[in-house]
Amino acid sequence: MTLEKLVNYAKLTGYIYQGSEIYGGLANTWDYGPLGSLLKNNIRDAWIKRFVTESPYNVLLDSSILLNKRIWEASGHLGGFVDPLTECRGCQNRFRADKLINDFDPSVNADSLSYEELYDYLLNNKIKCPNCGKLEWTEIRRFNLMFKTHQGPIEDTSNEIFLRPETAQGIFVNFKNILRTTRRKIPFGVCQIGKAFRNEITPGNFIFRTREFEQMEQEFFCEPGTEMEWFDYWLNEMKNFLYDLGIKKEHIDLHEHGKEELSHYSNKTIDILYKYPWGFDELWGIASRTNFDLSSHQEHSGEAMEYLDPETNDKYIPYVVEPSLGLNRLLLAILFESYAEEILEEGTERIVLKIHPYLAPHKVAILPLIRKKHNDKAEEIFKQLSKHFSVTTDVTQTIGRRYRRQDQVGTPYCLTIDDQTLEDNTVTLRDRDTMEQIRISLDEVVSYINKKIAF
Ligand code: ATP
Repeated sequence: MTLEKLVNYAKLTGYIYQGSEIYGGLANTWDYGPLGSLLKNNIRDAWIKRFVTESPYNVLLDSSILLNKRIWEASGHLGGFVDPLTECRGCQNRFRADKLINDFDPSVNADSLSYEELYDYLLNNKIKCPNCGKLEWTEIRRFNLMFKTHQGPIEDTSNEIFLRPETAQGIFVNFKNILRTTRRKIPFGVCQIGKAFRNEITPGNFIFRTREFEQMEQEFFCEPGTEMEWFDYWLNEMKNFLYDLGIKKEHIDLHEHGKEELSHYSNKTIDILYKYPWGFDELWGIASRTNFDLSSHQEHSGEAMEYLDPETNDKYIPYVVEPSLGLNRLLLAILFESYAEEILEEGTERIVLKIHPYLAPHKVAILPLIRKKHNDKAEEIFKQLSKHFSVTTDVTQTIGRRYRRQDQVGTPYCLTIDDQTLEDNTVTLRDRDTMEQIRISLDEVVSYINKKIAF
């Protein structure tokens, strides 16, 4: 499976379109079509179900994208959320120096090199501009990834505002609110899903690295000294979540950050990598962030961020373990994982998206065998089933073609209405993966499907 093939597939089926396409596009922006937006929603639902609703520890938050500028001073983003930028003097294209080096040799730990070392590496190894082939790099400088705009009608520095580059800070600044209103005790966590924006120097690989993306983040507050236990606990939960969604174990790898690579606030960080077509790359990160964020917000805002343990009367600023997942990167991994081309017994080929039924955009496709005769019944069944899960109807072309179309987009069940349905209220249900068909009473369809799509 190549990336190019998946991009075409996604466009053809209505999973993902190029952004602003009729105006020639806008580089590295993507729109999620009718199927893609349902899939995205189902991934969000699965994550909330697993990490909020079914978790004894976590609650949900939805904080705003625009935040007080001082939050970004406290979090360190204004000063330090930077990537090493170099420009080719030959063609004026700009690149991330660490990525140039890793494209040249993936085994180099480019994150741990200083800006001088990055520059020397580029020159010593004669790494040429991927665009024009020249070897004329400028010295490396810091490039802040935050999107800046202005709040209100006047454009000056006093009303500068930033699109959030992560959802996490919205959680930290609400720590006291949540503590007060939920009366939770440590340990507990706060989960949030939302858009984040980073002015990436070199976005690419389809939806893997874009400037606008969606994160699913969790900040787990615990007692200092217990963070490593919780780190292991959540890492395990993360891996299980991926496996339960159908990601194969051999497609997952872990990368633990070495000392030089760790952020200054972290005492342990592991990236969960997925095997994308270009190699293993970061899907989900888990970082033990000590009490850096809450302490810094306490210092900058003057608000106490301490927790008073009701049993021991100890006062402390909680430590934090943060699993941070890119929704778009997970969606991409799921598409790669599920896409299959199969040669059938009769020698024909089918494309089938073997996606977990819980994630499938539609659970059932309703197919009236003969449009004129069976359409009324199809409409009746649509009304009935759509109250329980997402269904679609397909009325044109032969039944075989319709099966293929539904296989291609991952609909787990096709429900066919024929003459017998009008007599005894039974239908055939065809399974996407086995292609086996059963005859079942309409009264049993909802409970049958509900069992099959459970997550
Ligand atoms: P990378 O090294 O790939 O730039 P990162 O380590 O900066 O990622 P984090 O800051 O840890 O990423 O963000 C948490 C998660 O958000 C990542 O694991 C990834 O899934 C997602 N993410 C980060 N940047 C992007 C992006 N530009 N486009 C899509 N998803 C992203």
